Amino acid sequence: MATIEKWADMHIHTTKSDGSNTVEQVFEHARNEGISAIAITDHDTVAAGPEGKVLEKKFGIEFVTGVELSAVYETKEVHIIGLYVNPESKNFQERLSYFQKRRAERAEKIVKKLREQGLKIQYEELYEITENMNNAGRLHIAKLLVKKSFALSIKDAFNKFLAEGRPAYVEKAKLTVSEAVELIKEAKGISILAHPVLLDKDEMIEVWSKEGLNGLEAFHPDHSYEDMSRYLDIANKFDMLVSGGSDCHGSGKDHTRIGKIKLPYQYYERLKKFQVERNGVAI
Ligand code: AMP
Ligand code: FE
Ligand code: FE
Ligand code: ZN
Repeated sequence: MATIEKWADMHIHTTKSDGSNTVEQVFEHARNEGISAIAITDHDTVAAGPEGKVLEKKFGIEFVTGVELSAVYETKEVHIIGLYVNPESKNFQERLSYFQKRRAERAEKIVKKLREQGLKIQYEELYEITENMNNAGRLHIAKLLVKKSFALSIKDAFNKFLAEGRPAYVEKAKLTVSEAVELIKEAKGISILAHPVLLDKDEMIEVWSKEGLNGLEAFHPDHSYEDMSRYLDIANKFDMLVSGGSDCHGSGKDHTRIGKIKLPYQYYERLKKFQVERNGVAI
């Protein structure tokens, strides 16, 4: 008898951060792609959580409240995903509000720098592109630059203005990896090192795992087949969980979409089991 393959996607962005799909559209795409469990992992916010919990029943797709935090190691940005984070955790809420406030201030600074470069651009123009200025990011600003023909593409906007080292780059609030891991732990979530190949510091994985990092994102659109198998091996070696997903942002990042990278369901089941064994529930 043929086994029915089931899939999950544990890395998706929505309009609550810099994705272009609404929470409901994410569920629709997941259903069309035959995905049985999803996590929404917006940057610095769990605002998709309540709606996701309602839609979970309507669509019959399991929903995990997630977040993607930005940390820093040496000079490099490191993304840490929190899965099953509890939005009620007071400290977690306060820290997310802090990061969000800093995002709005940073967007203003970036626009100011763009104006210094001679671009006719106003902070207020971002209101049309960003659902909530507290979740503003460089992808929103890149979209505005393309819309106003100051850049040919999103990539071009980053290369010309927004990437590290470019004239309108402004840092955001950043944590150390262990602070990000600790924050997710306090919110009773599972911490996952996102797209580890982009960081390229594999030698640090053992250290961070000892500090409490729970898992690795082995399945990601920026990983080659060799990367994926290497991260599966590393996770196995250090007894870490495995996660993965599309990192779909909708129209802002055309090279990926929901369904492009699917996490085999057995890994999702391990994440869930880990959570149930530790917290009694996985919600
Ligand atoms: P932020 O959190 O505001 O720094 O914005 C990060 C977003 O910009 C993420 O969605 C990144 O994937 C995206 N991003 C970062 N660097 C680039 C780049 N060089 N080209 C295109 N997108 C990028
Ligand atoms: Fe993003
Ligand atoms: Fe990321
Ligand atoms: Zn992401």
